[in-house]
Amino acid sequence: MEQVNRDRLEQLLKQFSAFGATPGNGVSRLALSQADIDARHQFHSHCEAIGLTMKVDDMGNMYAILPGKKDVPPIVMGSHLDSVLKGGRFDGTLGVLAGLEVVHTLVERKIELNHPVMVVNFTNEEGARFDPAMMSSGVLSGKFNKEEMLRSRDSEGVTFEEALKQSGFEGAECDRLTDAAAYLELHIEQGPVLDTYGEDIAVVEGVMGMVCYEITLNGESNHAGTTPISMRKDAMFASANVMMHLQRELKKMPENLVYTIGRMHVTPNIHTVIPNEVRFTLEARHADCAVIREVEKIIARLPSEVEQCVMSYRKLWDRDTVEFDTTVVNAVSDSAVALGYKTRRMYSGAGHDAQFIATYIPSAMIFVPSTKGYSHREDEYTAYEACAKGADVLLQTLVQLDKKLSNAYESEFVK
Ligand SMILES: [Zn+2]
Repeated sequence: MEQVNRDRLEQLLKQFSAFGATPGNGVSRLALSQADIDARHQFHSHCEAIGLTMKVDDMGNMYAILPGKKDVPPIVMGSHLDSVLKGGRFDGTLGVLAGLEVVHTLVERKIELNHPVMVVNFTNEEGARFDPAMMSSGVLSGKFNKEEMLRSRDSEGVTFEEALKQSGFEGAECDRLTDAAAYLELHIEQGPVLDTYGEDIAVVEGVMGMVCYEITLNGESNHAGTTPISMRKDAMFASANVMMHLQRELKKMPENLVYTIGRMHVTPNIHTVIPNEVRFTLEARHADCAVIREVEKIIARLPSEVEQCVMSYRKLWDRDTVEFDTTVVNAVSDSAVALGYKTRRMYSGAGHDAQFIATYIPSAMIFVPSTKGYSHREDEYTAYEACAKGADVLLQTLVQLDKKLSNAYESEFVK
């Protein structure tokens, strides 16, 4: 069974980790920064060197294309080259470079596929410089409005539009990814499951739905030294009670529900003053929307008064679970098994470009282990052999889908 060139993939990953390298062995490669622009040029020159043609669309998404034997929509592989501030060397980059290595393997071994093959680098996946995350795949899928995205500003006041124009990577709307036979995204897991269980590959079935609420406790401020405890309306202790209650209730839910109180605002936030207002977020994620609805019921059942403070809540936003395409998911699974790699199925708890692309192109993702589950930090690591196994699955899935989908076209033609 065909495998990718391990050394070449390792060299590629090492080469790209120099773009925006940080002293802590990570990368700071914010979207359309000089480091990102340098990485883009490097990607472009590698693509040209193996005979691919490059197209760039109006959001700066880059598409490297290898023609197929037939005039049919391409099979697309890719991810993103941008990173968060002090991020890791593998997040996103692996999916783009593994795609490149897979195509290099095809070209080198003269393996001709029916479908054209495309490697994509999506602009500003992280949203670390320009809000929101997954900006460009969001525009492609119609989830985000392009004009609004162009106005998004970084912390220095530079708009996305200005940065895109200055980068030299502003292409044409007619070159957008509109139609494809399939989209495959190889990515690091960014969680500890594969590493903990010593498994090679996760076949990703979809992206978990989530919900985010803000809960507010209103009490009364007063002097921290003179007000007897029995006469207080302390919003902080009241909110602590609510948090403990939430944890007790949520622990009764299915084990794979994840929930986080990640943000808290305390007013006035002074150590000599009893807090009169505490606001905090509760975010929960699960693949089954019925479980998410149960979380919402727990919140709805909260009392309106806690320790003489008024409790209120509002939903900030939610997102439905994205189910990946069964044919593509099964092709990933069959490929990983055929290669003899230890495999499990899972839903992604993190967001990825694939979740937007999946709304109009049959998609799936492949995860490889993140050592200790670390990601979005400088010591994010995935062993190079583990990366290569992911690329092998990518290659095998591509070849399998090419066969399977070509047969489908032919039988349609016969009809
Ligand atoms: Zn990523």
